[in-house]
Amino acid sequence: MNSNENIPYKIYLSESEMPKDWYNVRADMKKKQAPMLNPATGKPMTAEELGHVFCDELVAQELDDDTRLIPIPETIRNFYKMYRPSPLVRAYCLEQKLGTPAHIYYKFEGNNTSGSHKLNSAIAQAYYAKKQGLKGVTTETGAGQWGTALSMACAYLELDCVVYMVKVSYEQKPFRREVMRTYGASVTPSPSNTTQVGQKILAEYPDTTGSLGCAISEAVEYAVTHPGYRYVLGSVLNQVLLHQSVIGLEAKTALDKYGVKLDTIIGCAGGGSNLGGLIAPFMGQKLRGEADYDFIAVEPASCPSFTRGTYAYDFCDTGNICPLAKMYTLGSSFMPSPIHAGGLRFHGMSPVLSELYDQKMMRAVAISQSDVFKAAEEFARIEGILPAPESAHAIKAAIDEALKCKETGEPKNILFGLTGTGYFDMVAYGQYNDGIMSDYIPTDEDIQKCIEKLPKV
Ligand SMILES: *Cc1c(COP(=O)(O)O)cnc(C)c1O
Repeated sequence: MNSNENIPYKIYLSESEMPKDWYNVRADMKKKQAPMLNPATGKPMTAEELGHVFCDELVAQELDDDTRLIPIPETIRNFYKMYRPSPLVRAYCLEQKLGTPAHIYYKFEGNNTSGSHKLNSAIAQAYYAKKQGLKGVTTETGAGQWGTALSMACAYLELDCVVYMVKVSYEQKPFRREVMRTYGASVTPSPSNTTQVGQKILAEYPDTTGSLGCAISEAVEYAVTHPGYRYVLGSVLNQVLLHQSVIGLEAKTALDKYGVKLDTIIGCAGGGSNLGGLIAPFMGQKLRGEADYDFIAVEPASCPSFTRGTYAYDFCDTGNICPLAKMYTLGSSFMPSPIHAGGLRFHGMSPVLSELYDQKMMRAVAISQSDVFKAAEEFARIEGILPAPESAHAIKAAIDEALKCKETGEPKNILFGLTGTGYFDMVAYGQYNDGIMSDYIPTDEDIQKCIEKLPKV
C-alpha cells in the first residue's frame, strides 16, 4: 500500500536517531534456535568451553536468548558515526525503468572503505577483544570483505589481526589482500601449512582452491594455540546477527518517519548476517503478531543451503574442529564451485535464520550466477552503484518481485539490502562482460554425498 509519494531519494537519519541498542530477535522467538553442541560430549556448549575460542563478552551475547535490547557501547557508537547511518535509498530510477507500480527501497551498506556491512560487527568484536585485554584476533575471510572490515576495526583499536584468506580469493583479489595489509593485518592463503588442519586438508585435496569452512578451521587452530588470541567470525553466529541489527533498526526508523509500511524484505544470504540484521526488527513484529512481512533469503544456485540443504546438526568448518550447529546445511564436506560471490560460499546458514525458515516465517530463492550479474549490470547502469556480486543476488530477487507487481498491479513496498560495492570483483565482472561466465549448479548426487557425511547426533 502506497500513500506517500513525497519520499526523498535518500532518507538520512540524524545522529540522535541512530540506534542506542542492538535488537536481539531471539528474545521474541517462542521456539528458539537449537543450541550449539560440543562434538566430543554431544552436550550444549558451555560459556566456559566457548571462552577458549571467543571473547567472554561475545560468548555472553552468543548465549543470550532472552535480553531484547543490548546497549551499544559508546566507543562502538562513535565508530559507527564515522560511516553510519547508512543511506536508505528509494530506487526511483529502477522503478521507472521496470515500469512497476511497486516502490523499491534499498539500504546501502557499501559506504565505508571495507565496502560492506561487515564493519558493523567487526568493530563490536574487536572492541570486546580489546576490553578483555587480548593481544589479537584471528579470522577467515572469503571474498575479503570480512577480513578488510576486521583489519580496519583492529587498526582503530590497536589489536593484532591474523587473517586466513580462502586461496582462490587470495589469488584473484590481490587488491583486497593489500588493503588488509595496509590496515596492519597479516594475511595467509588457506589452506596453508601454518596449521595442522591446513596440512591435513592439503594432503587430502592438494589442488583445492580453499573454502570458508577450511579457512575457519585454520583460524580457530591459530587462536587456541596462541595465548592472548581469540577467534572472531564475520557471519553465522547469533552475536553477529545481533550487531547487524543496526541495519534493520536504522531502516525501520527511516521508513517510519515517512509512514512507509513494507510488504517484502529481501536480502542475500551467505551465513545470514546481513539478512538477519536487516529483517530483525521487522521479524520481531511478525513474531509478536504486530505485522506481517514476506521475508526472502536469496542464495546462489551453486551453494543453495536453504533451498536444497538439510536442517540438521553439522560442523561449521571443513576441518570439523568447531562446535556443531543445527542449521540448513549442504554438509561441511561440500566444496562450492569457485563462483565469484565469495561471501556466499558457505555450506551452512545462521541457526537463528534456519529455525525461522523451518518455522516458515521466511522463504528462500536460489539464483544462478549469470542472472545475478545481469541484474548487477542493470542496477549499476540505472542506479549508479556498482554492486558486490553478493548484493546483486538481492537486487535480482527485488527486480523479480517488482516485475510480479507489474503483472498484478499491486503497489507493494519492497526493501532490499544492498550489502556492498563490487570494485574488487572486476575479474568476475570481466568474465561476465566477455560472456564466459559459468553457472555451476551442484547435482542432487553431489549434495547427497555430503549430506551422508553429516555427523550423527
Ligand atoms: C559477506 C557478505 C555477504 C554475505 O554474508 P552474510 O553473513 O550472509 O550477510 C553479502 N554481501 C556482502 C557484500 C558481503 O561482504
